[in-house]
Amino acid sequence: MSQLWSPAVRELTPYVPGEQPRERLIKLNTNENPYPPAPGVEAVLRDFPADHLRLYPDPESRALRQALAHEYGVEPEQVFVGNGSDEVLALAFQAFFCHNRPLEMPATTYSFYPVYCRLYGIERRPLPLDNQWRVDLEAFTSDSAGAIFANPNAPTAHGHCRDAIASLLERITECVVLVDEAYVDFGGESVVPLVASYPNLLVTGTFSKSRSLAGLRLGYAIGSRELIEGLERVKDSFNSYPIDSLASAIGIAALEDRKHFDACRGKVIATRERTIRRLNELGFEILPSQANFVLVEHPDFDAAQLFVGLRERGILVRHFNTDALRNFLRISIGTDDEMDSLLEALEILCG
Ligand code: PMP
Repeated sequence: MSQLWSPAVRELTPYVPGEQPRERLIKLNTNENPYPPAPGVEAVLRDFPADHLRLYPDPESRALRQALAHEYGVEPEQVFVGNGSDEVLALAFQAFFCHNRPLEMPATTYSFYPVYCRLYGIERRPLPLDNQWRVDLEAFTSDSAGAIFANPNAPTAHGHCRDAIASLLERITECVVLVDEAYVDFGGESVVPLVASYPNLLVTGTFSKSRSLAGLRLGYAIGSRELIEGLERVKDSFNSYPIDSLASAIGIAALEDRKHFDACRGKVIATRERTIRRLNELGFEILPSQANFVLVEHPDFDAAQLFVGLRERGILVRHFNTDALRNFLRISIGTDDEMDSLLEALEILCG
């Protein structure tokens, strides 16, 4: 450890993303989409004029913000874009959550949030999930630097309906409520329509999951103009170009193809439901899912051993080494064939 590092960096345990294996495995560990992006994306990659890369991109990313604004029925000034929603979240932590009060979040949620808290010196107040593993919206208070949760939550997969979150916003008006909708397109209910009524609501989204573009790094936030301006202030301070020109063109192509989007998410949802039924028959307990993954545990088998057994059979899932999640596996929904291989392997391991 270097004495040259600032104290927050010295104490930091960085976020460890799911493994990206070199060998060919059935990869069900990082919630990517098993289907390719919209065909229009390939056309952009083929036809994009290399000479455009000579110039800096539009510092305001107008075209992509316009396309997102159209998609969500808001004004372009209510849209912010960045390199993956992880970056957008980092900027939001800096712009809104650095106060002398703790930031409230579920005790079990996306593990990047605590990393950002440590990095930016933000105290964290973890709120236990309710007895059905759902984010306890009642537990959030107004005595905080803000509230953040994923909806559907990760890795528990449950999503609250819009009305439930509207009730929270009726109570919490003095600080930012950030709802991370990375997984909302797989059966959740987006709260974007609430931004018109609640100026303290910021919704983040990503092209990584339902748009099959995790390799591109494109994310966004939607909220009141006031919040978007706050994000722009932080962003402009170290890199005034939000995203590159090629990413912008690809993002627009992905947004344009609604048919492809609906077909892919429909397939993922159908495969998820079929997988859940079969896992049930194998004796697994499965948390209800509105996401492209399921969190499961088997009362008779150790999750760590199942993880190893699957890995030996060429299947990679996620095992979280935390107290709350030790006996769970998180399984991303792949193609039907991939899920069949998973189920066959589990039949042997749990048979
Ligand atoms: N939020 C949640 C809840 C996630 O699980 C992820 C993906 N790991 C992200 C945000 C970040 O997504 P990306 O940076 O790829 O947009």
